[in-house]
Amino acid sequence: MSIEVSIINNKASNPATLPTLTEELRQSILRKTEKTSLFLKQAVVEFPNVTFANSLGAEDMVLTDIISRGSLPIEIFSLDTGRLPKETYDLITEAESHYQKKFKIYFPNFEKVEDYVNTNGINAFYQSTDLRKACCFIRKVEPLTRALASKQAWITGMRAEQSKTRSDLPFREYDSSNKLEKLNPLSDWTEKEIWGYIRIHSVPYNKLHDEFYPSIGCAPCTRAIAMGEDIRAGRWWWEDENGKECGLHVKQNLNP
Ligand code: SF4
Repeated sequence: MSIEVSIINNKASNPATLPTLTEELRQSILRKTEKTSLFLKQAVVEFPNVTFANSLGAEDMVLTDIISRGSLPIEIFSLDTGRLPKETYDLITEAESHYQKKFKIYFPNFEKVEDYVNTNGINAFYQSTDLRKACCFIRKVEPLTRALASKQAWITGMRAEQSKTRSDLPFREYDSSNKLEKLNPLSDWTEKEIWGYIRIHSVPYNKLHDEFYPSIGCAPCTRAIAMGEDIRAGRWWWEDENGKECGLHVKQNLNP
């Protein structure tokens, strides 16, 4: 299957990453920062071994900054699928230096990756949704399961505004797939508030965001978007809009 990649190649800054810092925006960021900080402090009390799945997106860097400023005892981990863009690896290095904190990195099971690639091909995820989901399962879902084992709760940087599949995202929900609480403290933040926070506090971020990549995953499965496109339009762009999740945030369907 041939996949046509439509990438905006100019290096012009994406205006969404540089919002005008009006007084109104500053005030709403301040209010939401205080609310998020309080939410995280309460999470630590309720779930002493709560962990933060840092997917290295703009939202996750805001959470990293809030956790670090509050010196909150929350483990931060990331999944290295082995197919991330160079800019994401650069961000890990920069963030660890900026916050003087190591991110715990989880890798996929190498035997499963070898088996998948040797059976299906190095870029088999373009051939069908089933093969794409199988790749995501090996490189993301299984490592996440290991990262969450024995934890009471996990934190994500998800926002309701990010896509149709996330529009009803609660601040807190039971993750029946992984059997623990899932906390989404940024659920009601807007994209402007995220980028306003990043600019006000000089938070490290993935430089691909400036090149019209609002949502960044693995390199072969992420493209830049055009102005006005959905924030997650550049993820698995060859697939149907409604099924575009990698399995990390899919609710288990309890109905047969
Ligand atoms: S996003 Fe693409 S490369 Fe990454 S795990 Fe999923 S299918 Fe594989």
